[in-house]
Amino acid sequence: MADEEKLDAIVVGAGPSGTAAAITMARAGLQVALIEKGAKAGSKNVMGGILYNHYLEEVVGEDWRQAPLERPIIEEQRWMMTDHAAIRLLGYKNLRNREHPHSFSVLRARFDEWFAGKAEEAGAFLIPETVVEELLIENGRVVGVRTGREGDLRSDVVVVCEGIGLGSKLLERAGLRKPLRANQVAMAVKEIIAIDPATIESRFNCEPGEGASIECYGAATRGLSGFMFIYTNRDTLSVGGGALLSEMSDTRLSRDELERRTPNALMNHFKCHPAIRPLLQGGETVEYLAKMIPEGGYRAIPRVYGDGYLVCGDAAMLSNPVHREGSNLAMESGRLAGETVVHAKEKGDFSAASLRDYRLRLDRSWVMADMRKYDGAVPLLEHNPQMLGRYPELLDRALDEFFRVDGVSKWDKQSRILRMFRKEGGLRMIRDTIKAGWTLARPLHR
Ligand SMILES: Cc1cc2nc3c(=O)[nH]c(=O)nc-3n(C[C@H](O)[C@H](O)[C@H](O)COP(=O)(O)OP(=O)(O)OC[C@H]3O[C@@H](n4cnc5c(N)ncnc54)[C@H](O)[C@@H]3O)c2cc1C
Repeated sequence: MADEEKLDAIVVGAGPSGTAAAITMARAGLQVALIEKGAKAGSKNVMGGILYNHYLEEVVGEDWRQAPLERPIIEEQRWMMTDHAAIRLLGYKNLRNREHPHSFSVLRARFDEWFAGKAEEAGAFLIPETVVEELLIENGRVVGVRTGREGDLRSDVVVVCEGIGLGSKLLERAGLRKPLRANQVAMAVKEIIAIDPATIESRFNCEPGEGASIECYGAATRGLSGFMFIYTNRDTLSVGGGALLSEMSDTRLSRDELERRTPNALMNHFKCHPAIRPLLQGGETVEYLAKMIPEGGYRAIPRVYGDGYLVCGDAAMLSNPVHREGSNLAMESGRLAGETVVHAKEKGDFSAASLRDYRLRLDRSWVMADMRKYDGAVPLLEHNPQMLGRYPELLDRALDEFFRVDGVSKWDKQSRILRMFRKEGGLRMIRDTIKAGWTLARPLHR
C-alpha cells in the first residue's frame, strides 16, 4: 500500500475498548479502521453482563440513552452457598436507581453492534469478518497489521483491543507480552436462558422493566476462586460464571476431580442447586458461550505502549473481578488511548516516548487506582481455599443451629455454636476475615 494510503490508526477488535478508542479518534477527525473478526461487532463476544452507563456516556454523550440496554439494575444480591444452603450476604435494593440508574444488564451481541455503529457514524471504517493475523513490525516499530483478507494495512499507530483468550495472541506472537499464566485468568461460561418477562419479574422481585443481579460464591463454584451469576435481561436470563484456570487445570488432581471442575460441570452444578433451580425453571437455553477473564491484577499488566502501538481493555489485563467490572475499564482505557493518539497526531510523534502519555493518563485515572487496590484479591482466595469452602460450611452449620427450633435452650445453642467454632477453626476464620478485609480496604500505596 502506498504511503499516502496509510491510515492514522488501526484498532484491532470492536469490543468496548476498541470501539471507545475508534469513536474518540474518529470524532477528532482521524482516519481510523476498526477491524473485527466477527461477522458483526459483538457476534463473538461474551459478558455477564452488567454495563455501567457513566463510562458509555463519557464516550458517546447523551446518545447512551439510545443504546440497546436490557434492564436497569435496581437490586444487587450476593449469596454464599453451601450444598445445603444459600446465605444471603447482601441484598441491596437501591430505589434511587429507578431515577438514576448506573448499571444495566446487556446482551453484547446487540450492544456491541450498536456501539460500533456509533464509531461508523463518527467516521471510522468498520471492517468486519476480518482477522488480524499479525502486527507488522519494521525496525522495532509497529507499522500496521496483516489480515487474512485485506492484506497488509498500514497506520501511524495500532491500538490493540483484541481481548484475551485462545484466539487473542497478537501481542504474544509479536513478543510484546509474555504468555499468560493459568493463575492470571479465569475461564468463564455463560448461558442465555429465555423466560417470559412477567416470570422474571415475579421470581426476582422486580417491578416491570427493572432488573436484579445475583452473584454466588462458595459451593456455587465448588469452592474454586470465582463466582457464578444470574442477571435479568428483558426476556432472558444471563446465567454463568467461572473460576481461576489454574484451579480448573491443576495437574496434581485426579481425573475425576478435574472433570468436576470443568466450566461445563460447574455450570450444571450451579443450575441444579436447590436454591437456583426454581429461578431457572421452565427456561430454555438459547445460547452457550465461553471466554476468559483477566484476573492477574495490577502486577499482570503488560507494557501498554511502545513504538507505534497501544494496548487497551482485557488485552491490557485491565479488569476488576471483585466488583465484576471489565467493560468500564475497557471503555475508559480505550477512550484514554484515543485521546493519546489524537495528541500524538498533533505532535506528529508516534514513538514510545510520545505514546507513554497513555500510561501516564491511566496512572492518574481511577483505572490504575482500582487495579492497585485489588491487586491482592485473587491471590488471597487462591492461597486460602478455606474461605470459599470450609468457612461457609461452618457458618451454615452455626446458622442452622441458631435458627432451628428443636427443644434445645438458646443458652445451650449458644454454647454448642461456640464449641463448634473453637473446635473447627472459628478463630482462624475471624483472623482470615480481618486479613481479607485489610487486603481489600487498605489505603492505597501509590
Ligand atoms: C462470562 C463473563 C462475564 C462478564 N461480566 C461482566 C460484567 O458483568 N460487567 C463487566 O463490566 N464486565 C464483565 N465481563 C468482562 C468484560 O466482558 C470485558 O472486560 C470486556 O469485554 C473487555 O472489553 P475489550 O474490548 O477489551 O475486549 P473484548 O470484549 O473481548 O473484545 C475484543 C474484540 O476483539 C475481537 N478480536 C479479537 N482478536 C481479533 C483479531 N485478531 N482480529 C480482529 N478482531 C479480533 C473480538 O472478536 C472482540 O470483538 C465479563 C466477562 C465474561 C467472560
